[in-house]
Amino acid sequence: MSLISERAPANVRAIAPYVPGKPIAETARELGLAEADILKMASNENPLGSSPRAIAAIHGALNDLAYYPDGSGYDLKALLSRQLGVTPANLVLGNGSNDVLELTARSFLTRDASAVYSRHGFMVYPLATQAIGANAIEVPTRGYDTDLDAVLKAIRPDTRIVFVANPNNPTGTFTPWAELGAFVERVSPGVLVVIDEAYGEYLPDELKSPAVEWVARFPNVVLSRTLSKAYGLAGLRVGYGVASPEVADLMNRVRQPFNVNHLALVAAHAALQDHAFIEKSRANNAAGLVQLSAGFDRLGLAYIPTRANFITVRVGDAAAVYAKLLAGGIIVRPVANYGMPEHLRITVGLPEQNARFLAALEAALARG
Ligand SMILES: *Cc1c(COP(=O)(O)O)cnc(C)c1O
Repeated sequence: MSLISERAPANVRAIAPYVPGKPIAETARELGLAEADILKMASNENPLGSSPRAIAAIHGALNDLAYYPDGSGYDLKALLSRQLGVTPANLVLGNGSNDVLELTARSFLTRDASAVYSRHGFMVYPLATQAIGANAIEVPTRGYDTDLDAVLKAIRPDTRIVFVANPNNPTGTFTPWAELGAFVERVSPGVLVVIDEAYGEYLPDELKSPAVEWVARFPNVVLSRTLSKAYGLAGLRVGYGVASPEVADLMNRVRQPFNVNHLALVAAHAALQDHAFIEKSRANNAAGLVQLSAGFDRLGLAYIPTRANFITVRVGDAAAVYAKLLAGGIIVRPVANYGMPEHLRITVGLPEQNARFLAALEAALARG
């Protein structure tokens, strides 16, 4: 190792890089297939594409690209505050919600602090924690469910952040809001509770998140939401945080001044008003989960009950099944790095895509 790399702090050198879903172009190149023949069900992207209103807004914004974006995100924050019933001072915009999660870490963690999160939780929580050099405390689950009692017990005097995703990725598990609400009440007001709602739009109406109200009651609660999943804008990178004005102010201080680009701002503004697209996405997802779980039942495969836009299924030798599916042009997500070496995570597709995947899975399993 060269002297300069040795000079990087040990916590940075120890980071295991985030492994994204394999890109379509790379897979097509490796298999010698056309990109159109590759089916990606690996990154919880929307199989219906992007909100058409967002696409139209992007076309209308192409002549403005010589200018810096509005670093305050005035229009997007104005819309969000109307929709959520909060003030613009409660909002933090992010280059994806990943950025929002990083901003919580950069605002509250130091090398002397710790962050707590659940096992089988989203990889960005340990990554953001490790990047600071703070201590990462991983709490065992109950089955695959987040064990909030155990999370509460794991909080130490040096803990500054607790991360909870609901629904969780990569398990799809859902914690009833009443339980999470009781948890929020019990957490010390000196610990930031980050509630990651990346899949909130896929919840049925009766399970809609009440967490915006918690932000008003508890200055230590932050919600993180994204336009990457149901809104179909993963490639643009835009998400937002809802927090108390004090916490939002701290997060905004460490944020890059122009962290959300102009096209992302205008697209998010349009997409958030595209209720028809969200309804269509929810309907496709609900039908797809039925289709996929019925397929798994037929194949005798156990899967984790999910409330998200993916389903995590136990296939045995997941690495081998992944490789066979990939050879047939289907990209799914191995989750061995999440401590689940026998599972694959499958993003819900269109009906014909789900069918193609199930047929390929059956063939992959039959070949042993
Ligand atoms: C996909 C995902 C995100 C969102 O990532 P973006 O940076 O907004 O694209 C956040 N949290 C979880 C749990 C996710 O699965």
